[in-house]
Order: sequence, then C-alpha cells, then structure tokens
Amino acid sequence: FDEVREVDNEIAEAIESEMSRQNSHIELIASENWVSKAVMAAMGSPLTNKYAEGYPGKRYYGGCQCVDVVENLAIERAKELFGCDYANVQPHSGAQANLAVFFAMLEPGDKVLSMNLDQGGHLSHGSPVNISGKYFDIVSYGVNDEGFIDYDNVREIALAEKPKMIIAGASAYARTIDFKKFREIADEVGAYLMADIAHIAGLVATGLHPSPIPYADVVTTTTHKTLRGPRGGMILCNEEAAKKFNFNKAVFPGIQGGPLEHVIAAKAVCFKEALQPEFKTYQEQILKNAKALSKGLMDRGVKIVSGGTDNHLMLVDLRGLELTGKELEKLLDEAHITCNKNTVPNDPRSPFVTSGVRLGTPAVTSRGMVEEDMDRIAEAIALVVKEPEKIGMARSIVKELTEKYPLV
Ligand code: PLP
Repeated sequence: FDEVREVDNEIAEAIESEMSRQNSHIELIASENWVSKAVMAAMGSPLTNKYAEGYPGKRYYGGCQCVDVVENLAIERAKELFGCDYANVQPHSGAQANLAVFFAMLEPGDKVLSMNLDQGGHLSHGSPVNISGKYFDIVSYGVNDEGFIDYDNVREIALAEKPKMIIAGASAYARTIDFKKFREIADEVGAYLMADIAHIAGLVATGLHPSPIPYADVVTTTTHKTLRGPRGGMILCNEEAAKKFNFNKAVFPGIQGGPLEHVIAAKAVCFKEALQPEFKTYQEQILKNAKALSKGLMDRGVKIVSGGTDNHLMLVDLRGLELTGKELEKLLDEAHITCNKNTVPNDPRSPFVTSGVRLGTPAVTSRGMVEEDMDRIAEAIALVVKEPEKIGMARSIVKELTEKYPLV
C-alpha cells in the first residue's frame, strides 16, 4: 500500500488496520470470504480505467477489444461452471442481479412469493424498505418451528395467492433447498421460479448442493460468498428463458450504466479457480467445518436452529436465554470472533435485537482451518454464551488459532 500511503495516509492507515483486524479475528460471517491473490490483483488492475457500456461486440465506447476478451471469458466460464446456456456477469451486486430479473420478468404491482426476511430470506426479495417491497405485491413463506421450509405450506400459500413469481433462496437457511419441489409448486400455480443461490453458489458449482439450473426459470447469485470471488452479482439461465426475457437489457441500460470490467476480470479468475478440482475439496471442507462447528456447539449445550446444518452456515438459537443476539455479537467481537446477529424462526425479539447469531465457515476454511479448529472455536463461543466473564479465555483460544493460521 505504499502508493496509497504516499497520496493518502488516512486511507492507508484504515486499510492496514483492517488487514490487522482480519488477521487477528476469527471470521464467522457466513457471507464473507478471503479471495485469492489473483482475484485481488485482477480487481486492482487498470481495467478499472475503462468504460464499456453495452456487451462484448456491441459497446457504446471505442477501445473495448481487451475488455471484450475479459467479459467473454467470464461469461463462458460461468456457463461451464454452472452448466447453463446464458450468463450475465455485469450486475454490480446480488441485489442488482435480483432487481434486473424483476425488471425483465415482472410489471410493477405483480405478486411475488418469497421467503420472509425474519425467517431467513433476503432484503432484496421483498422487504418493505427495499425497492422489491415497494414496487411488488409481496407475500411470504417461512420455516416451521423446527427451522425447515415446509413445502406443503409454501404450496398452500401459492395456491391461495397465485403469485406471478416464486423466489427460492435465502441468506440464513442452514438446510438443503429443494428446487425441484419449488418448480412443482410454481408449475401448479403458473408462476415463474427464480432461485437466488448467493450463499450456496460454491456448493452448487461443485455439486455439493443440488443445482436449481434444471428447474428455475432464472438463477441469480453473488460471486463473493462461498464462491470466493470479488464482490458482485450474476444472472444465469437456460436458452428458453434467455430467449423469452431480455436480462441483458434489464441490466444495461435497465438498471446500471458502465460495467466494472476489473471486477468482471476478477469474476473470470474466480470461475477458473472454481473449475479446478481443489475448489471442490475446499467446498467439502467448508461443509465438514460447518458440521464440526455446529456439533461442537451443541455438545456444549448451545442450541442450533433445526439441530444442525446441511450447508456452510448455522443459526445459534438463544431463545429462552437472557442473552440476546445483539449482545452475543458484541461479546464475541470482544473475544475477536466476528459474526452477525440474526433473527431465528418465530423470534420473540425485534430484528434489531434478535435471539440468534448466524455463523458460517467459508472464511475460516479459506484460512486453512479444519474440524479440530472448529471444535476450539465452538469451545470459545460456548464460553462466551455461558460464562461471559471468561471472555479472556475465549480470546486466548482465538489468538492461538489466528497465530496458527496467519493471513499473508
Ligand atoms: N441474495 C442473497 C440470498 C443474499 O444473501 C445476498 C447478500 O447477503 C444478496 C442477494 C445481496 O447481495 P449484495 O450484498 O451483493 O447486493
């Protein structure tokens, strides 16, 4: 960061402090990860200097021959990775990808059935404070008391409400999503099916979670969570939907201007990495680590929603305890463990307080940690939950682990 420091010491200091925070803390935010040096270098490349409104071969600016190569590679690799016919790699984020899909497939006022934010859904699937909730008529499904999606209940709501679109996908759901069942429900009521695989994209790409590609009309994702790429979004689908809906036009000029070709280059690098056999080994380790962490917590008497996990994340259930999600997030931060408070199914507390925290293993797995380390992390978390006065002991465990796996 010498170049930054020469120009702007304040920003250089903040970047260095963040690097040291990342190194000294255990990162359990389920949506975060550490990108490779190659992905990072592509993001920080001179491609950021280029305007390229439009699509490869059809740009509104000259000099796009090199970025065309970049974007075409990203598109082809995305299609290969997810086994589909169409990819748009331009959405600046997951929320942008979702908005573009709505713009292409729906009219304002149309009815959309999606997972409730409080029960694991995402803001961009119809929260009243998001454009999706303001422009569309949102009805929602949730999870049952055990924390699983109840497909019979989803079907009942769909039959009663007749939505134009059903969204399958979540931000805080620890169980396998049955996209085939969602397709059957959508077919029964004549709805489109959109799958948002932002969280589980890495697992889907490696066949460790069933893919929605054969079932959904359209699939959206982020590229920065389990997929371990740069911060960004993407739209995927098969030929039929690509012919029927103009997703390209919905992204540009619909909701965005010039694409971030430096980020698209980093997406291409990420997809190349994800196509290698080692990436599947990494995803398998994420799953093993998530199972080990949830088991370690449950063995120590910390409750987990739905009694475990099928994917990279889990929800600690604090219902019945005095400790709130908000307090636990803060206490864990003092122990140098980073996570986020999260509502649990039928949470008696408000979304600002919550009765849970969400934990995920993509970042600690990138750092090299394995099952025995997860058990140590579980020990540290259980200490904080049950004996907050022993936070110092939890911090020592974190120190031992972060020193064992330094981030370079
Ligand atoms: N969709 C889901 C399921 C998510 O979990 C998220 C982010 O957490 C998004 C979309 C939005 O992604 P972004 O933050 O890149 O807009």
